[in-house]
Amino acid sequence: MNIGFIGLGNMGAPMARNLIRAGHTLTVFDLSAPAVAELVDAGATGADSPTDVAHANVDIIITMLPASAHVKSVYLGESGLLSTVDPQVLLIDSSTIDPISAREVARAASANGNSLLDAPVSGGTGGAAAGTLTFMVGGTENEFEKARPILACMGKNIVHCGASGNGQVAKVANNMLLGISMIGVAEAMALGTRLGMDAKVLASIINTSSGRCWSSDTNNPFPGVLENVPASRGYSGGFGTDLMLKDLGLATDAARAIRQPVILGALAQQLYQQFSSGGNGGLDFSAIINNYLEPAKNE
Ligand code: NAD
Repeated sequence: MNIGFIGLGNMGAPMARNLIRAGHTLTVFDLSAPAVAELVDAGATGADSPTDVAHANVDIIITMLPASAHVKSVYLGESGLLSTVDPQVLLIDSSTIDPISAREVARAASANGNSLLDAPVSGGTGGAAAGTLTFMVGGTENEFEKARPILACMGKNIVHCGASGNGQVAKVANNMLLGISMIGVAEAMALGTRLGMDAKVLASIINTSSGRCWSSDTNNPFPGVLENVPASRGYSGGFGTDLMLKDLGLATDAARAIRQPVILGALAQQLYQQFSSGGNGGLDFSAIINNYLEPAKNE
């Protein structure tokens, strides 16, 4: 299949490589020329603009951009995709953006005769490289079925979440819970160890008891409890605090728009914001435990 791919960053580049590996023909664009050059080396054809991608006889265009503003500019901008793309081309946006913007762009696409699926991912850069991402997809059943075999080249769980925007809804709800649960585990681990318990023993109790969650059993924030997690390598790699902060912002913005209280989500957002403002935005979000273990450092 002829596929256009726009946004070749930490996630987009390995996703595009997996499509090439699966035998698809790719035309790619990114504002960064070196990012395009790397994909051209891997077998893609480089384009000079989104318009160029739209004119490359593509069946599908996938976008993987940082945030809503970039997505709106690529689709709705003066020389954006919708100004020129053939109505037959299926559009898939895998960026993480707020559900309201996702629905706005999908409506504009629909007015143009195109279908646009929102298909944000979880699984991080490791999952993007390994082709094991989870895709949370919003849009019609029919378009979902068309997209599924392509998404399956980049991920292993491809889930239809319902109507347009619902992929983003699933993503922000899950990540809000993740942000909150990490802070809960950090508080519990700090309390237990400060009261004299061994961190590994405490984690093993939690992980076989009712407090167990991903933040306790897979990405425990206490250094040394688990091997091969960010906490055991100075909180490098993993899911950056600033990316968590972005996702909590999406959740609280969406909640505000519909007057839905997200009290712990908003509190979590403020805690990560404070942590980021202390120069920690690039650390894995589990490093938030340092707020409890070394309070003076982040004040
Ligand atoms: P990134 O910043 O590494 O890459 C974004 C790319 O988009 C960059 O190469 C940039 O040059 C390009 N870009 C920006 N504006 C553009 C435009 N107008 N036209 C063409 N290219 C443009 O970001 P990433 O880590 O790849 O994340 C992409 C999306 O995936 C984000 O929405 C992020 O929240 C989401 N996400 C990231 C992760 C992760 O672990 N990195 C995990 C899940 C979801």
